[in-house]
Amino acid sequence: MHNKLTSWRQQSRLHCLHSSSKSELNLKVLEIDKKFLESTLREQSHSQLHGGWIGKCPYCAISDKTKKKQAYLTPRETGYVFHCCACEITQTTFHFLAGSQGNSKAQDYAQARWDAGELCGGGWNCPLPQKVRKHLLNEKEQRRLAYRLADQQRKEENYRRKYCTD
Ligand SMILES: [Zn+2]
Repeated sequence: MHNKLTSWRQQSRLHCLHSSSKSELNLKVLEIDKKFLESTLREQSHSQLHGGWIGKCPYCAISDKTKKKQAYLTPRETGYVFHCCACEITQTTFHFLAGSQGNSKAQDYAQARWDAGELCGGGWNCPLPQKVRKHLLNEKEQRRLAYRLADQQRKEENYRRKYCTD
């Protein structure tokens, strides 16, 4: 418990140190979100009131009961958030794209965030794109292999030094 608290304090201190650059990165995220969220709602239009978009929910807009209720795409500090007042779903941009546009669209989005400066993965509200994750895993695997080979070589060398005198 105590350790957890200490590390949380350290993290928040780190966060303060980097807060200015972090908010610049958040602006980049908002730009990418905006691009990908274009025409994802039915009858999508800009909302003067909250600075995002308003329209019909792609999940539930078909039924008569929910016709009058609105769905929103609202810019928050860390990216856009989807919310539908009829089905009461709230999602980050990544999950909204995956749910309403399909996984390949969501992957394109995650890739765009990665390409813009690795704005995904741990600490972000968007996972690493699958391609990158695979690549990183491969690298880890390669390192492990290289380490194992070097270790083996060292053992062989030691063995030779010990038993083979020329
Ligand atoms: Zn809905």
